Amino acid sequence: MKKNKKVLLVGNWKMNPVTLADARKRFAAIKKSAQAHKGFDVAICPPFPFIAPLAEMSGKGKIKVAVGAQDVSSFEEGLSKTGEVGAQMVASTGASYAIVGHSERRQLGDNGQTIALKVQQVLKTKMQPIVCIGEKERDTDGGYLEIIKAQIKEALSTVSRSQFHEVIVAYEPVWAIGRKDNVAITSYDLHQMVVYIKKCIREMWGETISSMTKILYGGSVTADNAEDIIVNGEVDGLLIGRASWDAKSFGEIFDVLGKGEKTNSKKALKKSFTKAKNNKKNAAKRK
Ligand code: PEP
Repeated sequence: MKKNKKVLLVGNWKMNPVTLADARKRFAAIKKSAQAHKGFDVAICPPFPFIAPLAEMSGKGKIKVAVGAQDVSSFEEGLSKTGEVGAQMVASTGASYAIVGHSERRQLGDNGQTIALKVQQVLKTKMQPIVCIGEKERDTDGGYLEIIKAQIKEALSTVSRSQFHEVIVAYEPVWAIGRKDNVAITSYDLHQMVVYIKKCIREMWGETISSMTKILYGGSVTADNAEDIIVNGEVDGLLIGRASWDAKSFGEIFDVLGKGEKTNSKKALKKSFTKAKNNKKNAAKRK
């Protein structure tokens, strides 16, 4: 049950791109960027029809870019549910992760109950569920904290203790997703939230499970804020929407986080971030 300390970068392609040919091109370019910065765990979640062909391009070993789904059905395979795509089907096409409970799916009808069922379906496979939680807005009396607590409780209510090491939580405040100005949460506020999420998990399932559960952040991440978010927000990785759609913007995120470190653990990032900050300070003093 050892927690993998590598930073996890997950791209959510939503309804992009339009063609398989384009998806292959983008995926190949992202793979190239990832290869230049070995040490991250990287995954792309494309639309369903692109999972199998991209999984074939995924590669093996350390330079693998994994593939994930953006959703799965809450139903078992084999039922008469036209249009549904089961978790086992998705896993059989090569996906390693499945996003569950994304706010855009919640907007289309997902609720705590269906999300808990989807998490269970994913956990029956070898895939890891990336369970999205996040408040629509922040009030001043802390109501949003209760919303987060309830979302955690509902989504993970049926996860057994032995399954928890597979679960990844993605904190995605809805107000920070898809912003034109790309203003994400501040790393200070994010850190507070990470502490709170860990506290909720600790209260419900205990310290061991709380400390091993990976927490990602998603919402207007770009190369400009990625490092601050990981290092000072104290998250284990990022769920990246628009900036993962093209290899250039995703590559820039690799570049700022990578910096040639051999192991891109949170610890290594913190060290290089502090070093860069001190260099800047010293240079300012010398002026
Ligand atoms: C998302 O939709 O999961 C997301 C984080 O989007 P964006 O990065 O574009 O805000």
